[in-house]
Amino acid sequence: LREMNARHLWHPMGHPGEAQTNTPKIIKGAEGVRITDIDGHNPVDAVGGLWCVNLGYSNDAIKQAIADQLWQLPYYSAFAGSTNPAAIEASYAVQDFFAQDGMTRVFFTSGGSDSVDTALRMARQYHRLRGEPTRTKFLSLKKGYHGTHWGGASVNGNNRFRIGYEPMLPGCFHLPSPYTYRNPFDETDPAKLAEKIATAMVDEIEFQDPSTIAAFIMEPIQGAGGVIVPDASFMKHMRAICDRYGILMISDEVITGFGRTGDWSGARHWGVQPDLMTIAKGITSGYFPVGGVLVGDKVAEVFESAGPEGSIWTGYTYSAHPVGAAAVVACLSETLRLDTRTNAAARGTQLYEGVLKLARKHDIIGDVRGGHGLMTGIEIVSDKAHKTPMDAASMKRIHQATYEAGAMVRLGAHNILMSPPLTISEDEVNVILTALDAGFAAA
Ligand code: PMP
Repeated sequence: LREMNARHLWHPMGHPGEAQTNTPKIIKGAEGVRITDIDGHNPVDAVGGLWCVNLGYSNDAIKQAIADQLWQLPYYSAFAGSTNPAAIEASYAVQDFFAQDGMTRVFFTSGGSDSVDTALRMARQYHRLRGEPTRTKFLSLKKGYHGTHWGGASVNGNNRFRIGYEPMLPGCFHLPSPYTYRNPFDETDPAKLAEKIATAMVDEIEFQDPSTIAAFIMEPIQGAGGVIVPDASFMKHMRAICDRYGILMISDEVITGFGRTGDWSGARHWGVQPDLMTIAKGITSGYFPVGGVLVGDKVAEVFESAGPEGSIWTGYTYSAHPVGAAAVVACLSETLRLDTRTNAAARGTQLYEGVLKLARKHDIIGDVRGGHGLMTGIEIVSDKAHKTPMDAASMKRIHQATYEAGAMVRLGAHNILMSPPLTISEDEVNVILTALDAGFAAA
């Protein structure tokens, strides 16, 4: 396997030559919240696959629903002229799940990047249908992650996805991230930073001309960018500015949806209703690739009253895939039955407080972020006073030592990121904390 991997398998976000010198962990099985590799390690998966396996690896109801659907109808297109019962049931289940967020319609995709691209297209079309075709630009946040299709990569706040692939979508502007540890304002107070970014947003909108801006996209808590938790006022400021200027707000809930923040959506966690939501990952707990764009009545009615002009000219062969749809119905029903948001809030606090304790012991911990459900980020520095980012070799050593001590964590540039299954137990969180302690000691 290792030899074939090195010769034939290119890994996303890794360089092809790396597989020849580096030995990736080859995961062959999983049970509960633990994964098993071919070398016999059996760590707690503090990454939840890739921020997605919210219900753990042993949910029989989802597995059975997928198996049953495979025998009933393995595939049929859900383009304009046809659909399938599972897709219709899934649409009901999804909008019902997000009803409190004001969502009433769903457009299914195959994943998060598809969902972001679709949402951006819908935003432009919405304004065109309303007679404002000049509204084509997008605002987003630095450190945001919105997938790797052209639209998502254009609004991404991590320039690694842009540099080397330009030109991107024109008319995308990136505001500062609500990242208190480092920001252009040198502002460490989260509420004051929120106000300063709001001022910068108004300034940019005025500079661009409000009548040229289609939408603002943000993650309620930035995930891949390092688990950046904004002040509770932040998203409300953004919502108010979008309303003032007629800009659509897209909440990218690919990670934060389905309970991860301790509530069913990240926007709800901050007391905000967006106009569109992009979802994926937790929609099937990773058991099948599905994503979606949700819209509320305000957006839906513009499309639905426009006749053929309101047709959505994007879509995927696997949009509303019946097997994926069956996985969605089972996953949402299990998510509600297990009330995973409640456990996510309690275990998230335990994990966050445990890491804060580790930060008092290990000087290499520069910043700890989390405290809102099961999303935790740890920024590692080689010099705490100067906030010098830790070098890559030491980061790899932390990662490997933590793994060998019993927990798989996600390795960012100089961050350790965690998003374990929302079903994790108190003891299993303690396993992660003990393993991290060993990992930091090793560095
Ligand atoms: N948006 C956000 C907020 C994400 O975290 C991700 C994936 N990590 C995406 C979009 C892209 O999703 P996918 O990888 O399923 O295309």
